[in-house]
Amino acid sequence: MTLSDVSTDSAARPTGLESEVARRRTFAIISHPDAGKTTLTEKLLLFGGAIQLAGQVKARGERRRTRSDWMSIERDRGISVVTSVMTFEYDGRVFNLLDTPGHEDFSEDTYRTLTAVDSAVMVIDAAKGIEDRTRKLFEVCRLRDIPIVTFINKMDRETRDPFEVLDEIEKTLALDTAPITWPIGGGRDFLGTYDLRAGNVRLMNASGDSHEDLVPEEGIDALLAGRGMSAIRDELDLAREACPEFDLEAFRAGTMTPVFWGSALRNFGIKDLLEGLGTFAPPPRDQAADRRLVHAAEEKMTAFVFKIQANMDPNHRDRIAFVRLCSGRLERGMKVRHVRTAKQMSLHTPQFFFAQERHIADEAFAGDVVGIPNHGTLRIGDTLTEGEDITFVGVPSFAPEILRRVRLEDAMKAKKLKQALQELAEEGVVQVFRPVDGSPALVGFVGALQLDVLQNRLANEYGLTVGFEGSQYSLARWVAAETARDLEEFLEANRTATAEDVDGDPVLLSTSNYALNYVKEKWKKLRFTDIKEVQ
Ligand code: GDP
Repeated sequence: MTLSDVSTDSAARPTGLESEVARRRTFAIISHPDAGKTTLTEKLLLFGGAIQLAGQVKARGERRRTRSDWMSIERDRGISVVTSVMTFEYDGRVFNLLDTPGHEDFSEDTYRTLTAVDSAVMVIDAAKGIEDRTRKLFEVCRLRDIPIVTFINKMDRETRDPFEVLDEIEKTLALDTAPITWPIGGGRDFLGTYDLRAGNVRLMNASGDSHEDLVPEEGIDALLAGRGMSAIRDELDLAREACPEFDLEAFRAGTMTPVFWGSALRNFGIKDLLEGLGTFAPPPRDQAADRRLVHAAEEKMTAFVFKIQANMDPNHRDRIAFVRLCSGRLERGMKVRHVRTAKQMSLHTPQFFFAQERHIADEAFAGDVVGIPNHGTLRIGDTLTEGEDITFVGVPSFAPEILRRVRLEDAMKAKKLKQALQELAEEGVVQVFRPVDGSPALVGFVGALQLDVLQNRLANEYGLTVGFEGSQYSLARWVAAETARDLEEFLEANRTATAEDVDGDPVLLSTSNYALNYVKEKWKKLRFTDIKEVQ
């Protein structure tokens, strides 16, 4: 596989636009906390030449060491968790790394961010293997067939047996593994990696990754003997014989992952990973809209909103809508159609974000992510086009795991609360369910941290002091039916347990799994889903 095999993917006759699109790689890192995502991000940026900015990533990493630290930042600055975009160039490619919030809560933002990437790097702690959150995030990637590149980190520490780690990936994730490199030793004895295809060894040296420190195949025996590690030779031979060949098609289909080993902290293996990502990971993919499939290299610009961020600047009550470009070129000042309202909007100040910094974007291409300041016009899932009436599908909302009623300290402010909840729901901070029988609204959260965030934001931005009360309901499911009549019949029969979400879509409220299953049994024609995708 050479680089040019891949970069011509969507460029039958390369034009400026086509080659700009073809050289983009938009990805996220998925991992369990502490596996080394922050460290790896920083090192990728270093290799990508964004050295002066790497410190910021670190600072951010340190800042969110604990939940309380993070919450105090949140309070002090009035910002919510930042999903930023880091763009760097390496070897002629443009990499957009979409950062996902680092805190431990299950977060809708994280999941929505995954709708905006074309591939993901899965970072695994070599001593721990597949952990909880990695598995959850992986499942979301699988739903969307997002190709995964695996980086097994912390090889400089005590590790598990490499075969065992691969076996765990295969068994728990049902994902074939194709190691591209193989670790030689581990912990204090970690020498470097063996390139399974080229047959040479890359040694780790004091400064970490050095492509000069290569030992050719014929020197390996002497190298291992010199370090008292001759026994490893058998393992290398076995790895070479037993591991399946990397298959680009299987990778692109999301059923096989290339595996790299290294140490983000020691700077080792990063370059291999980056080159692997550049070579294997797909350029911006075709994106499904309601009426047709949109190709990334089409001339006309299209984009969708996958995240809204309020209060990036506490002095201005603006909201930034993060949009992922699906096709064409965005130019500063261009007029676009906001499909949901059928209105035109001008993109006066589209912005690129880098960690905490922003810059005006003069132009951007399919695969890129830009922020568009607005005052609440743009919502999650919205589509922007140059005029065409299409809507991208697939930006999900997740059924809440926590349902509460809001208790308002000052009952006179009920109307204000309603407005505030509507705004925050549109932004994706909370889900609001209004029971059709007129009883007070319920708020839904996917992670416990969201309760604190909502409480803070209501206090700081709307001057509303609230508490939360339990509700008889613990589950909410979106209801879908084949025909309008089926749906009506259901809603009529279940008036006391149905609500509308922020878009007016019907939701069943349930007191328990048992009750939910009962309804499911009774209404077999209907679907009760815990993920709602913008249709
Ligand atoms: P995150 O929570 O996934 O972002 O993880 P961090 O990048 O913050 O790393 C968690 C801890 O593991 C930090 O103390 C890092 O210094 C450490 N760490 C990260 N990568 C490595 C590595 O390759 N080797 C060793 N020994 N420690 C590492």
